[in-house]
Amino acid sequence: MSLFWDLQGPLSPASSMAAAQAESGARAAQRQASDVEARLDRILLACEAMWTLLREKLGLTDVELIERVNAIDLSDGKLDGQVRRTPASCPKCGRTISMRFPKCMYCGQAIVHDPFA
Ligand SMILES: [Zn+2]
Repeated sequence: MSLFWDLQGPLSPASSMAAAQAESGARAAQRQASDVEARLDRILLACEAMWTLLREKLGLTDVELIERVNAIDLSDGKLDGQVRRTPASCPKCGRTISMRFPKCMYCGQAIVHDPFA
C-alpha cells in the first residue's frame, strides 16, 4: 500500500488518469531522448571518420582543426562552444527571411540557405 493511500485514501479516477498520462508522457520523452542520443552517436562517428580521412589524405593537423573550431565558435563574438547565427535577410527586398522556406515570403526571391545556419 502506497504512502498516498495511507495518508489520503485511494486516488480519484481523474488523478489516476492524470498520473497515467504523466507516466506515458515521461516514457515518450525518454524514448525521444534515446533516439536523439543514438542520432548524436552516429553523427559523432561520421564526424570522426571524416576528420581522420582528412588528416590522413590531406595532412591536416589536430591543431588546425581546433583553431578552425575556435574561429567558428568566435564568429558570434563568444568562445562558448556554440554558434548563434543572426537571422538572414532576403538579397532582393532585405526583409528577414525564414530558414524553413526556399523562397522569400515577401517578394518570392529564391533563397540559397547556408547549410550550417
Ligand atoms: Zn524578399
